[in-house]
Amino acid sequence: MKKLDLITSAGKSEVFIVAGIDEALSRLNRDKTVVLADENVLKFHSAKFSGFQVISIGSGEMAKSMNQAIHLYQKLIEMEVDRSWFLLGVGGGIATDLSGFVASTFLRGIQFGFVSTTLLGQVDAAVGGKNGVNIDGYKNMVGVIRQPDFVYCDTDFLATLPEKEFLGGFAEIIKYGAIRDFNFFNYLNENIEKGVSRDKIVLETMIFESVKNKIEVVASDENETGERKTLNFGHTFAHGIEKLYKLPHGEAVALGMILASRLSVKLGMLEQEKCNELETLIARTGLALKYEYDPDLLADAMKKDKKRAGEEISFILLQDIGKAVIRKLPVNDIKSILYDLH
Ligand code: NAD
Repeated sequence: MKKLDLITSAGKSEVFIVAGIDEALSRLNRDKTVVLADENVLKFHSAKFSGFQVISIGSGEMAKSMNQAIHLYQKLIEMEVDRSWFLLGVGGGIATDLSGFVASTFLRGIQFGFVSTTLLGQVDAAVGGKNGVNIDGYKNMVGVIRQPDFVYCDTDFLATLPEKEFLGGFAEIIKYGAIRDFNFFNYLNENIEKGVSRDKIVLETMIFESVKNKIEVVASDENETGERKTLNFGHTFAHGIEKLYKLPHGEAVALGMILASRLSVKLGMLEQEKCNELETLIARTGLALKYEYDPDLLADAMKKDKKRAGEEISFILLQDIGKAVIRKLPVNDIKSILYDLH
């Protein structure tokens, strides 16, 4: 077991990287804990939560919606949940984003924790306190920043995770190396095949180093006024791609990181060779490097991104492997950028 603490002005959020959560669950009061769990996780792992009151929240981006949040508030009212109860979100980023949002807003906030069951969730989504829902397909448009009491990243759950979903996690893992951690990027270069083939020790190291990077960033900038923005590397493109083409988040982030690094080269900020290094690492995971997007449609989708402020939109670009910068570009340039990178 490995443990990392995220300390913020609101207190401490503990992140555990473990194999097995039975002991952790035994410490929760089953009479006053509601488990909000992804339906696919329940198909394989419901026995782990026996004795708890469990609500299945469905799965997929459609489940991460205001309608689903309202449905869950109604269920919690029916169950007479009060502020002494605890809410446990179980699943990937969809389940933890939604359950963290519901817990943070129900009765103006009850305590909550997560069991993260996807690689992407363990290295990114479950850590850092951003919880929210999509509106009309636009990602994370309504949400809060509030830290869970704990996050269990249980590698045992990864055994049932479909390969496609597993691989998506590597996009966010590579992101940390690309934006701020050159040594980790080198480690990934040396070990990526072992991670992809689910070598336990390598995978644990990759999860630990990713969480460590995320915690360092969030601890210094919880409300995303500075460095935390760099965690959005590739995401301005990715959110547009997800909205339009319904690609899983990890796959879209990999494509987005490639577009952002190619844009960095075009703007004269990054050497072509460094861009190639990043692309080669992504390719070795099996994630796609190219997607036939429609530049006009994608530009329209990207214009509604949260990172827009007036006539400008923030892009996270690279100056080097391990060094990201935030650049505001005119919204009206997006279409020509997308044609150029196509
Ligand atoms: P996900 O939650 O949709 O899970 C992927 C798929 O795997 C789903 O079909 C799910 O049902 C299934 N699944 C989950 N765990 C399983 C298991 N152990 N065994 C079998 N099947 C399992 O996707 P994700 O990639 O974990 O998360 C993506 C979401 O996370 C996106 O909505 C993204 O916006 C969000 N996100 C949030 C943050 C944040 O800071 N809050 C950061 C990154 C991503």
